[in-house]
Amino acid sequence: MSLIQGATGDWEIVIGLEVHAQISSQSKLFSGSSTEFGAQANSQVSMVDAAMPGMLPVINKYCVEQAVKTGLGLKAEINLYSVFDRKNYFYPDLPQGYQISQFKHPIVGEGIVYLDMKDGETIEVGIERLHMEQDAGKSMHDQHPSMSFVDLNRSGVALMEIVSKPDMRSSEQARAYVTKLRTILRYLGTCDGNMEQGSLRADVNVSVRRPGDELGTRCEIKNVNSIRFIGQAIEFEARRQVDIIEEGGEIVQQTRLFDPKSGTTRAMRSKEEAHDYRYFPDPDLLPLEIEQSMVDELAANLPELPDGKKARFIEEYGLNPYDAGVLIMDKASSDFFEDVAKGRDARLAVNWVTGDFFGAINKAGLDVASSPISADQLGALIDLIKDGTISGKIAKQVFEIIWEEGGDPAEIVESRGLKQVTDTGAIEAAVDAVIAGNPEKVEEVKAKPNMLGWFVGQVMKATQGKANPQAVNQLLRQRLGLD
Ligand code: ADP
Ligand code: MG
Repeated sequence: MSLIQGATGDWEIVIGLEVHAQISSQSKLFSGSSTEFGAQANSQVSMVDAAMPGMLPVINKYCVEQAVKTGLGLKAEINLYSVFDRKNYFYPDLPQGYQISQFKHPIVGEGIVYLDMKDGETIEVGIERLHMEQDAGKSMHDQHPSMSFVDLNRSGVALMEIVSKPDMRSSEQARAYVTKLRTILRYLGTCDGNMEQGSLRADVNVSVRRPGDELGTRCEIKNVNSIRFIGQAIEFEARRQVDIIEEGGEIVQQTRLFDPKSGTTRAMRSKEEAHDYRYFPDPDLLPLEIEQSMVDELAANLPELPDGKKARFIEEYGLNPYDAGVLIMDKASSDFFEDVAKGRDARLAVNWVTGDFFGAINKAGLDVASSPISADQLGALIDLIKDGTISGKIAKQVFEIIWEEGGDPAEIVESRGLKQVTDTGAIEAAVDAVIAGNPEKVEEVKAKPNMLGWFVGQVMKATQGKANPQAVNQLLRQRLGLD
């Protein structure tokens, strides 16, 4: 928990998030129109999406299954009976004059998401509910000096609104929550989690209180579309509220907007102006009743999820929780690690994958899929370290050669003469030469045995890093009479 220091004492931040996640589906929630991103404006709009009179919505079964699957992934209660309501409001990009959403009877009830924080603490964030709804279109105000345009391609696209309980206490926790939720959705394949394209966005509810007090009045920051912005919006908003209260003011419940340029939030509308949506069950749609057998089948075919994979990595490969946590955050990374680690020294594999490998792809701005080094190549390199063909130091050199030029690690080592020298004769010669050339150091090391490292370094230098470090160590100790 991170507290805010105010002039009158400490304050606790309370955060609850409403995440809108676009369901990965080729067609919309109630029509057969395509959902593909980036199409020409208004090219993916059926009569239903344009709300022509007399058009009837037909529920997309695939989307229902994805919502149930997501509910299962959130360890949530699945409601076999749910209802679609009309949420009435006017907006130029909402041709129906209402949004079809679920209100009193959502398809998914309470669930839970676990967050592994950097300091090793595990936070539980409750899920209040998950409901399905349609997305609206998009108004475009920047296309013409005196006119606005509307693109209805998004109109009717299926969304899941995932509502958390107010269980988060810092911007770090909120960021960790969205990151974890996105990872779960991606593992499930129910949402691509692409925040730049708007597939995942969050309404961020923030309030402050004295530690342990009742919940304070919240403000809701609408439609924040990056994890970094979520953190910034919370920091700004919490401080703003603390300042108001400490100056004797009161927080009014409000909807606010985040401005990424200034990192601030500003009022959009207050509770008094808030809409009365006049929800009522959509008469064009029957209540949605699903069979337990469908839920059971989806549950039986659920892929391995991040928490399960983390536990398995710890158990199967002996990883520490931190490394396991880093690897599972991205499915491609965890698959890559497993391909490298299978049948090999897991310690070496995790060090190489999270160290040199991640370092190289991050530096090059690549991801696992576009990496020039394959899991097979990295695995083969690790085999050469393990069987003593090359030292770890030479391996870094070979790694760079593969990265730049490709090739088989064993062949590279062979053709460039990088093999570790285990031949004792050659090592002995180098050791003796270093001892003979540095009589003063020999005197010093007798009094200060940790000077041995200097000798090892000299011998490694003389052998171009190819001498087996253990053999060098052993020989030096022997020759210098340190044993
Ligand atoms: P609404 O649709 O009016 O925003 P919801 O119940 O759908 O209401 O969502 C409320 C969200 O606000 C939830 O994520 C909840 O956790 C969060 N929340 C509720 N009370 C507070 C509070 N006092 N401080 C911070 N967040 C809160
Ligand atoms: Mg809300």
